[in-house]
Amino acid sequence: MKLQHYVNGQWVEIDDMNLIPVLNPANGKEIAQVPMASKEVVHHAIEVAKKAQKSWALVPAPKRADYLYAIGQKLKERKEQLAQILTAEMGKVIEEARGEVQEGIDMAFYMAGEGRRMFGQTTPSELPNKFAMSVRSPIGVVGLITPWNFPIAIATWKSFPALVAGNAVIWKPSTETPMMAYELAKIFDEVGIPPGVANVVFGSGNDVGTTLIEHPDVKVISFTGSTETGSKVAELGGKHLKKVSLEMGGKNAIIVLEDADLDLAVEGILWSALGTAGQRCTACSRVIVHADVKEQVEQRLLAAMSELKLGDGADEEVSIGPVIHRAALHKIHSYTQQGLNQGARLLTGGKIADDGALADGSYYEPTLFTDVAWDSILAQEEIFGPVISLITVHSLQEAIEVNNSVKYGLSSSIFTQDINRVFEAQRDLDTGIVYVNAGTTGAEIHLPFGGTKGTGNGHRDSGVQALDVYTEWKSVYIDYSGKLQRAQIDTE
Ligand code: NDP
Repeated sequence: MKLQHYVNGQWVEIDDMNLIPVLNPANGKEIAQVPMASKEVVHHAIEVAKKAQKSWALVPAPKRADYLYAIGQKLKERKEQLAQILTAEMGKVIEEARGEVQEGIDMAFYMAGEGRRMFGQTTPSELPNKFAMSVRSPIGVVGLITPWNFPIAIATWKSFPALVAGNAVIWKPSTETPMMAYELAKIFDEVGIPPGVANVVFGSGNDVGTTLIEHPDVKVISFTGSTETGSKVAELGGKHLKKVSLEMGGKNAIIVLEDADLDLAVEGILWSALGTAGQRCTACSRVIVHADVKEQVEQRLLAAMSELKLGDGADEEVSIGPVIHRAALHKIHSYTQQGLNQGARLLTGGKIADDGALADGSYYEPTLFTDVAWDSILAQEEIFGPVISLITVHSLQEAIEVNNSVKYGLSSSIFTQDINRVFEAQRDLDTGIVYVNAGTTGAEIHLPFGGTKGTGNGHRDSGVQALDVYTEWKSVYIDYSGKLQRAQIDTE
């Protein structure tokens, strides 16, 4: 199957010379070909989006929302088909793929609701016979740059608030996972969203991404991806005075205190650390465990990990799918080797899995390290694979210090039965998301999603807060006194 860019409500003719294969990470087979857009295609998309946005902004927000309701309905009808495609192009197990599509459905209906809210504020004026309010205004053309690990959910976190607020969008998905973007473009087309309002352009970050960031008519860039790339996006965006929203890497931890329900904690660790083969931005990569329960946690994790089945995520029996590609596999392996060199003790895994049916895919054995030093590479860098590192501590205060010692600040979690320590932890953990007696993953779309420090630059995806990225606040003063009233002067 050859994918096509979707620009101005049309499928763009492609040049066969610029096609790149899309591979299923479970078996290395080609499942589609994705075109790489030329600069002309990107410029054309920006031009039509700019024009379309002017009329779109004048459509009443509840009417704009009707398109989102229709999109949500189509996503719902196609949930299973989309989940199958998602698993084939990205590798996550089918149950998680269904969950990801559901996130898109939830986001569509939630943001459609914003069409009838999008609240501003009214406030008294300091002067008589004067009315004051602030309202949200759309900004213009928005460029969306997204990663491969959540090929549809992240795009919906960004595009739906942008659209309902009255912006036009150009979405550049990851080259690794363009098929979900193509499917969403088909849905935009089917619901008849006005031409030019929602566009999908494929191509590399260096080409299409950079073109979007540099172009004067793209006013907002919303990026999710690695901190390394995000810094480049911020630098270039800053140079061109863009509003740039960044959601980047994580090095998330679960704290297990000595009074924790250990069965529950182990379940939480497995789901958060090994789900999506450890390739979630919120993946639990560190377990900060109290010395009194360290050995029990090690034993329980080892027992549970020996039951896991590695394989093609399309198989309902499989618990862990492949990682995205072979390059990722080698990067993960290099981290586990460095961990060994720095003195961490390997309890299981630490190997590329390539026996039998796994040989053609990109699989890494679920890996457990213990006695990991809090400041070692394993404990500090985002590995993005199925690797768990246990770090021993002796108090809640030490656990919080270790949690906060990394450059990222996305998600954290604590398992304890002590309500006083729960409140202390939720106050002092320096991440954008905190879970209590649950793992580090599981965000719900009506809460703000994002992180502190090296994870973000202060913006949030999803939740009503996402509207802040895609709108400007306008303060409106209406003076009906019939005379000139000067603020701060004519107030006596
Ligand atoms: P990358 O940073 O490699 O890529 C993200 C996107 O940026 C891709 O579409 C990529 O395009 C594009 N890109 C690459 N270079 C540039 C550039 N110079 N200018 C503009 N765009 C560019 O991340 P991954 O795709 O590998 O995703 C994994 C990362 O995403 C992890 O670090 C993970 O933590 C993070 N992430 C963060 C989330 C959050 O909300 N905090 C959520 C999910 C993931 P292409 O690859 O096609 O060239």
